[in-house]
Amino acid sequence: MAVQWILVCHGLITLLVVISFLCGQWPIFQGTFIERINYFITFGAYDYFRRFVGVVFGSKGTNAVLSVEYYFCDRPNPTLQVIYLGIIGAIYYIIAKTSFSYIPGYYLSEVHRYTSLLAVGVGILLFLLTSFSDPGTVNPENVSQYLSAYPYDNIIYSEKDCSTCKIPKPARSKHCSICDRCVARFDHHCGWMNNCIGERNTRYFMAFLLWHFLLCIYGTVALGLVLAGQMKELKVIYILTAYYGIENSFRSLAPHVVQWLVGSYNTQILLMVFLAIVSLLLGGFFGYHANLCLTNTTTNETYKWQDYLSWQRKVNEAKASAAALKASISGLSQERKPPESKWKALFQRSRLEDVHVVKNNIYDKGFFHNFYEIVSPLSTRWSFSQMKSKSG
Ligand SMILES: [Zn+2]
Ligand SMILES: [Zn+2]
Repeated sequence: MAVQWILVCHGLITLLVVISFLCGQWPIFQGTFIERINYFITFGAYDYFRRFVGVVFGSKGTNAVLSVEYYFCDRPNPTLQVIYLGIIGAIYYIIAKTSFSYIPGYYLSEVHRYTSLLAVGVGILLFLLTSFSDPGTVNPENVSQYLSAYPYDNIIYSEKDCSTCKIPKPARSKHCSICDRCVARFDHHCGWMNNCIGERNTRYFMAFLLWHFLLCIYGTVALGLVLAGQMKELKVIYILTAYYGIENSFRSLAPHVVQWLVGSYNTQILLMVFLAIVSLLLGGFFGYHANLCLTNTTTNETYKWQDYLSWQRKVNEAKASAAALKASISGLSQERKPPESKWKALFQRSRLEDVHVVKNNIYDKGFFHNFYEIVSPLSTRWSFSQMKSKSG
C-alpha cells in the first residue's frame, strides 16, 4: 500500500506544480497558495538563493551568480536543448527497457516496437528543424521585401529603425536581444529550441508541439494497453473472482486490480502519469498557439495589444467622464428638466460602462488565409522576391 500512496503523492504534487507554474498568475488564483507557489517557482526561489549566496560569499558570490544568470538567460546556450534530448532519450530508453518485453502482447502487435522508435525519431527531427532553421532574420538584403510584405498598421507598429541592426524595422518584427538580430513576424525566443520562433519557423514549432502532444498520448495509451494485455494474459480477473472469491463487479475488483498493477508495474504507471500530465501541458500550449496562428497574432503582439487596449480604455474612460461632467453641469443650468424615472435610472448603464475598445488586427485575414500564411510563410513565396523590385 505504501507504493500506492507514493504514486498518489507523486501525481498530486506534479499536478500542483504544473498548475501553479502555468496558471498561477490567473486572476482566479489571486491571493491563493497557487499564486504563492507560482511566485516561488518563477522568481522567489531564485531570489532567495541569490540573497543566500550574497550573505555567505559576499559580492564575489553574487557576481558569479549574475554571470551564470547572464549566460543561461541572456545569451544563446544549448542547456535546454540538451535537457530535451536527455528527457526524450531517457523516457524512450526506460519504456524500451521495461515494457518492450511485453510487446507483442494481447493488445499490441510487434509493429509498435518500430512505430514508437519512428515516432520519437520524427519528434527529434522536428526539434532539430525548429532549433536550427532560420526564423526569418531581417538583414539589409531582405529588409525592403519584408517592409513591403508587412505594412505598418500605425496602431501597434509604426515606422522606425532598429537601433542595433541600423536597418528599418518591418512591422511585426522584433530585435531579439539574446540572438542579437531582427526577426520577422517575431513570436518569442524559445529557450528549449535555443532559437527565435518567427515568420519562417512557426510552422515547424507548431508541428513540434502537435507531434509531441500526440507522442505523449501514444505513450500513455500504449503503456495502458501493455498493462491491460498483461492483465488479460495472466487472467487476473479470473484469479481474483474464482480463487479469491471477489465479487465480479467493477467496484469490488478495481481496488484489487489497482493494487496488483501498482505492485507489479509501478515503473509503467509512473511513466503513464508523467506522459499524461506532459500531454495535457503540450495540448494546452498547442491550443494557445494554434488560436494565435489562426487569428494571425504573435505572442509578442498579444502583449502589445494588451498595452494598447488598456491605454485606449483609459483614454475613452477619461473622455466619457469628461462628457458626463459636462452633461451634469449643463443639466444643473437647465432650470426645469423633467424628473427621470427612478426605474429608468436604476436600469440605465453608467456611461463609463459603455466604454469599449476594439482590437483592429489588420494582419488577420481570415481562418484559411492565416493558416496558409503559417504553412507557407510570405518570405518563402515567389511573390516575396518580386516585392524588392517594386519597392526598391
Ligand atoms: Zn535588430
Ligand atoms: Zn532569439
